[in-house]
Amino acid sequence: MQAFGGIDPASDLRARPVDDARLDQPVSSLKGVGDKTASALARLGVVSIRDLLLYRPRRYEPPAPRRDVGELLAGEEASLDVVVVNASVRRTRRRNLTLLEALVRDETGSIVATWFNQAWLADKLIPGVRLQIRGALERGDFVVRTYEFGSDPIADITPLYPASEALATKRIRELVRMALGHIDDLGEPLPASLRAARRLPHKADAVVALHRPRAATEAELARQRLAFEELLVMQLGLAAQPGEEKRCAPVLRDPGELVTRYRHLLPFELTPAQEAVIAEIDGDLRTDDPMKRLLQGDVGSGKTVVALYALLRGIEAGQQGALMAPTETLAEQHFLTVEGICAELGIGCVLLTSSLPAAAAREARALLETGEAALAVGTHALIQDQVVFRALGVAVVDEQHRFGVEQRHALAAHRSSDARDLVPHQLYMTATPIPRTLALTVWGDLAVSEINQLPAGRKPIVTRWITHGRASEAYRRLRSHLEEGRQAYVVCPLVSASDASEARAAEDEAERLRQAELTGLRVGCIHGQLPTRERRELMQSFAAGDLDVLVATTVIEVGVDVPNATIMIVQEADRFGLAQLHQLRGRVGRGEHQSYCLLVSRWKEELTDNATERLEAMVETSDGFELAEVDLELRGQGQLLGTRQKGLSDLRFTRPRSDQGLLRAARDVAIAMGEADEILDVEVSRMFGDADHRGRA
Ligand code: ADP
Ligand code: MG
Repeated sequence: MQAFGGIDPASDLRARPVDDARLDQPVSSLKGVGDKTASALARLGVVSIRDLLLYRPRRYEPPAPRRDVGELLAGEEASLDVVVVNASVRRTRRRNLTLLEALVRDETGSIVATWFNQAWLADKLIPGVRLQIRGALERGDFVVRTYEFGSDPIADITPLYPASEALATKRIRELVRMALGHIDDLGEPLPASLRAARRLPHKADAVVALHRPRAATEAELARQRLAFEELLVMQLGLAAQPGEEKRCAPVLRDPGELVTRYRHLLPFELTPAQEAVIAEIDGDLRTDDPMKRLLQGDVGSGKTVVALYALLRGIEAGQQGALMAPTETLAEQHFLTVEGICAELGIGCVLLTSSLPAAAAREARALLETGEAALAVGTHALIQDQVVFRALGVAVVDEQHRFGVEQRHALAAHRSSDARDLVPHQLYMTATPIPRTLALTVWGDLAVSEINQLPAGRKPIVTRWITHGRASEAYRRLRSHLEEGRQAYVVCPLVSASDASEARAAEDEAERLRQAELTGLRVGCIHGQLPTRERRELMQSFAAGDLDVLVATTVIEVGVDVPNATIMIVQEADRFGLAQLHQLRGRVGRGEHQSYCLLVSRWKEELTDNATERLEAMVETSDGFELAEVDLELRGQGQLLGTRQKGLSDLRFTRPRSDQGLLRAARDVAIAMGEADEILDVEVSRMFGDADHRGRA
């Protein structure tokens, strides 16, 4: 890494600890930050001054040339220094958006500047006010993208932050500027010798450059400096984790007759990628060292088939298997799949979720304790104390990033009642892949497998983005699919208020659709508030083809598997996160027919940049790795990787794909250092949670 222009990386400022007390102050301690702003910031993951200082711009807007009004060219990005003549707000006729129009002028002429959906700004555009605006001339008007009051020109390079509807990137810029007043409290965790050797700038300089770069390269160097630090801290922390007590798992030698019958039952050939993973799993099971394998594979790549293989390997050796999923819907869906196969194979199988009636749950537990049931499918209910397996041999955790560390460990540490003191082999699955090197680092003790190809014959899903003015076309399209015998999903808009209001909104929407776009069709409605039994019946009748359309909330995000469903309409798709959209889309494209995903958004003018980029990314690619990276960039933080995954959620600056070199460098440094010095240890403790980390010292 190179030094910053003008900053001497080896200047003799020593490493010094961060001023935690001052940095931990809530954002509301900043002038002008009230409850509303604070809670909008909290939703973006920003709670303290530190969070603001380390809030990473998702990209930078390049400088726009300064122009006089008289010399503007159509379409060209430009910045203007103008005075307001007058301003007014009106509704556009075609799209019914609020349009703020201000007549502005400089010495060379006047022009109408426009803002969409910012009516509140009108009051501030008082005649005579000086204004800096950046944007472009479109159809005779100057469409404003960035503006500042006053006479200071807009910074050449403008950072764009992950923003929300409640909090514009411009406001975040102002808040960050205030937070920069605390820059000296950040401290310098990296020893001077290390900074000198690697020519790393001071942390404070890097943070300033992150928010106010003088050139794009400076911003990137700043990011790398901060990424290096966090990767180093992560490595030091991982190295310091207490080693686990050595435990043994049952030895499962060669695949037997049961899995052979299972393979014959499958109506398809396994893909080479699936076979490769199965071979890796077989290798793991052969020894008494418990398997700890992370299976990464995009939505629909066929992980469940592989998981069931592993479970059956245990079962044929007289052991039991458990498959744990993060939601009831997913657990039920897995159960539906697995139940049929188990019946064919003559294996007892139970479903265990917390919504099961007490008597049924008791019965399921009894079957597991006696060993009559060889396989348990369920949610967190599986790791409750009352659940005792006779001999749990293989445990699979699906969508593992949605579980907390403790929950995963609980299943892994399970001791069975057969008194042999063995723990199960463990397979963790995720459809939110991260690059292998990073995965290996972050889950230090897991081996990593990947299914990197979709089953043969799958046609890539065609994704279209349309605005709601054309929604009726989407429904016409949907109908034509149904006429060909296919089925469809309609995903309801997100209503964030509560599960109950989300459920109500879904019911209302289903009813509205039955009267309108979907008249004459068999429409079911599924959401998280339905009793389990009803939800199951709905899923079953949709799978059996007794329903044409399933109107759903995001409960169908994971696991639902109906190959005949080939079209999905996502309403108000701009409200969904990228990972969520990708998961939702994975519900179609599971069979032989061409599938479609139609993303319906509000008018483009109403969308945040962020929403626009999400939808564009969805249209452009269906590669989970790629979308994961875009998502990470857009969110600016490692939230995607699972907030409850220790360490990972603290990776704010790392780009999983492009920073592999940085990751290796940090690892080498961590190995050379051995353990964190006092100052770095403060950072380690913060990343890994105080209690358990400090406890070891
Ligand atoms: P994932 O859990 O990775 O999202 P699933 O295991 O649910 O994917 O598989 C998605 C669908 O593909 C299921 O309907 C499954 O039966 C089917 N499938 C799995 N493997 C194959 C294969 N090798 N060939 C054809 N279809 C497959
Ligand atoms: Mg799955």
